[in-house]
Amino acid sequence: MLEIRHLTKVYPNGFKALDDLSLTVGSNEFVVVIGLSGSGKSTLLRCINRLIEPTSGQVLLDGVDITAAPPTALRGLRRDIGMIFQQFNLVKRSSVMTNVLSGALGAVGTLPSLLGLWPPAVRDAAARNLALVGLADKATNRADALSGGQQQRVAIARALMQEPKVLLADEPVASLDPATSHSVLDYLRDLNRERGMTILCSLHFLSLAREYGTRIIALKDGRLMFDGKPADIDDARFKQIYGEDAVEVEIR
Ligand code: ADP
Repeated sequence: MLEIRHLTKVYPNGFKALDDLSLTVGSNEFVVVIGLSGSGKSTLLRCINRLIEPTSGQVLLDGVDITAAPPTALRGLRRDIGMIFQQFNLVKRSSVMTNVLSGALGAVGTLPSLLGLWPPAVRDAAARNLALVGLADKATNRADALSGGQQQRVAIARALMQEPKVLLADEPVASLDPATSHSVLDYLRDLNRERGMTILCSLHFLSLAREYGTRIIALKDGRLMFDGKPADIDDARFKQIYGEDAVEVEIR
């Protein structure tokens, strides 16, 4: 279970991007985070694994306070939280397999990995994870030779190397076309349903949010302004979240 308590982030310029946000996410939930650009979605996801340091408040995973963890403990805790990004963040010139293996860096250590001395069990896991996202035949390709959707699936396989309990996805399909977006989100849904992985995923399009989320939270100015079932976002809610003229969020 992931507990977010009174989370606040004030950036150095004084801008408050998260404002006293509290939220509890059970295992097995696929939570979609929506809200206008600038509402705090990315800040929220990045505060959960402390890619961004929260100003105050707590994040607890299965009762362990991530926000209070000193650097050595944080490394271990971060293994429980995988993350994928809008721009995939792969090492473009490296092979697909090397990118997936790098997800095990935390467990294997830098020197063996630099020398390519991955333990056989880690190599097997990488092959399994690559197969899981339907890319077993691309292992030796250069990462940047793959399509955007395929690159995001490599990023998912890389995140799975940590065997995370929670997967954070920061606008994972924002640079993909609609059909490819569905294929990527289908893999996230499978992980949620079949492995019981908790997913927190920000999405721009409300139609995708409705289709994939078991729960939707909406942010506005760093505050929680909706938390409920996808079906509960009626026209009035929609206008509250996006304003009167936000037509584009419905397109996909
Ligand atoms: P979203 O993901 O919903 O688009 P973000 O979390 O990226 O929103 O940003 C929330 C707000 O915080 C925005 O107004 C953004 O301009 C501001 N912000 C983000 N990063 C910084 C930063 N490093 N310094 C100051 N303000 C920032």
